[in-house]
Amino acid sequence: MLIDLHTHSTRSDGTDSPSELVANAVRAGLDVLAITDHDCTTGWAEAQDAAAAADVVLVRGLEISCRYAGAGVHLLAYEPDPADPRLQAELERVLEGRRARLPLTLARLAELGYPVTAEQVREVSGDTEATGRPHVADAMTRLGYVADRDEAFARFLMPGRPAYVDRYAADLVAMIGLVAAAGGATVVAHPWSRGSHRVLDRAAFAALRAAGLAGIEVDHNDHAPERRARLRDIAAELDLVVTGASDYHGTGKTGFDLGCNTTTPAEYDRLRALLP
Ligand code: AMP
Ligand code: FE
Ligand code: FE
Ligand code: ZN
Repeated sequence: MLIDLHTHSTRSDGTDSPSELVANAVRAGLDVLAITDHDCTTGWAEAQDAAAAADVVLVRGLEISCRYAGAGVHLLAYEPDPADPRLQAELERVLEGRRARLPLTLARLAELGYPVTAEQVREVSGDTEATGRPHVADAMTRLGYVADRDEAFARFLMPGRPAYVDRYAADLVAMIGLVAAAGGATVVAHPWSRGSHRVLDRAAFAALRAAGLAGIEVDHNDHAPERRARLRDIAAELDLVVTGASDYHGTGKTGFDLGCNTTTPAEYDRLRALLP
């Protein structure tokens, strides 16, 4: 039983369309696949149709850009009602933050001598509502400024690099409540990658659990073995579900293949019990 609860399609910064994602999940031998694009649910319908015709169970989710104690935190939300007005309004605010950031990023790049137009970004970002730095990176790759996404992030787009621009993110505690009110369950994505390691300690997870958090994504490529062990202990102490997932982005991220980390059937059942 192979269960992968965190993957991206072209509806955000992945490179497989939702139906290609489902086809690749079947090819990788997955039994359960969650589609979790950044900040939007527009891939759900296509993925659902593809999964219905294939031998894989689809979990509908999304990965929401949040902030906690000043640090960026990604929150996986499974099966919330996408029509819930309060959830929809907050997601729209996050997407508006993405739209507002793009021209600022492009202005920085132009000043640095690497002009990229919004049209050139649109050519690579395709059908997404959630334009992000990976799309800017893809446009820069096409223009020959960098070799790939990794180089674009390392030289220009990461925090501290000259074309990095901050954007709006939802309050993490409030978002956990919004998703729960919309009937969904939440799991903190890769909590100890990048900056969020500083702020997400045991006490923080206890507070998040009190706000309604269901689980922690422990097995993720960004986590070294010692960090996984410590996170697993915290999850056990706080009775939080432990998940593992690939965070697959197609060819957009190397080494994050479908099924490279998985969730055990027992932990998946605990999560499912919290869903509609
Ligand atoms: P954004 O959504 O614009 O804030 O960009 C963040 C996204 O960029 C994350 O979801 C990652 O998928 C992606 N990302 C971050 N660092 C890298 C990297 N070094 N190479 C490729 N993708 C990256
Ligand atoms: Fe991403
Ligand atoms: Fe993430
Ligand atoms: Zn992700």
